[in-house]
Amino acid sequence: MIEITLAGNPLDRAHHKRLDAGWLAAARKSALARIAVFSEGKPLIRDGAVAFLTSPALQMLGCAEEPGVFLGLENEDAYFAIELGRSAAEAAQELGGFADFRGTLASLPMTESAILGEARGLLNWHAHHQFCAKCGNPSLIADGGWKRICPACKAEHFPRTDPVVIMLAARGERALLGRQAMFPPGMFSTLAGFMEPGESIEEAVAREVLEEAAIEVGAVRYVASQPWPFPSSLMIGCIAEARSETITVDRTELEDARWFTRDEIVRALGRPMGEGPLSLPPPFAIAHQLIKAWLAEDGAAR
Ligand SMILES: [Zn+2]
Repeated sequence: MIEITLAGNPLDRAHHKRLDAGWLAAARKSALARIAVFSEGKPLIRDGAVAFLTSPALQMLGCAEEPGVFLGLENEDAYFAIELGRSAAEAAQELGGFADFRGTLASLPMTESAILGEARGLLNWHAHHQFCAKCGNPSLIADGGWKRICPACKAEHFPRTDPVVIMLAARGERALLGRQAMFPPGMFSTLAGFMEPGESIEEAVAREVLEEAAIEVGAVRYVASQPWPFPSSLMIGCIAEARSETITVDRTELEDARWFTRDEIVRALGRPMGEGPLSLPPPFAIAHQLIKAWLAEDGAAR
């Protein structure tokens, strides 16, 4: 079974509770509330786990009246998330440290990563959607953070998720991998790109592989997906059947793209990252899981 980091959120999102402003206010101020706090998108971490704060702790930080966004329920415990202002963030340093979220994915418990992913995606949406996209007036937060309403034109706005296709294109015993100039030396990964309006997943996969490497693609199979809140993507992981072999790299997108044999990939996975001629993305990246899914397929089926 494929384990997807940032999926598997254990919370009941309790949609009906989002609409109950009285319940939300009481739950947020309850001593049982568990509140994830962020500073500039970085979560507060303590001893290798998320430092969920309580309402009294929030009061000490001067955030007693901050409603935050409602993440969901775990049994009777209500989870919220708040982006702290500068002075509250400084005071919170006594309770833990603010860490780069992506940098914690390899070490945080999977369920906590998933809760933080929900929180970060939602908080980031609010940070960048303060104004009505229809008329330009300031909009207001509603439904525990799951909606914004424009008081001027009454338009309703909902949190965005932007679909990205990420695919391993394979031809027999070889897989197509590419690298961006920003990658560490020797690192190659699967190709990926944003879906465009009016495209199916299969069509987006074929277009991206053709654009980035000039490889034609036939059948496309969905494997798994990964929420990726950097800032608001959903990675849709596929394996694609390549129908041509000659690579032409689009240098505006990639520094290089090559075919790698199954043996080269197996050897790379068996080595520590950064050693040897080829490095692959770490297990928390869906690219890693796609590569493993391809390796696990029955050779006769390829
Ligand atoms: Zn408006």
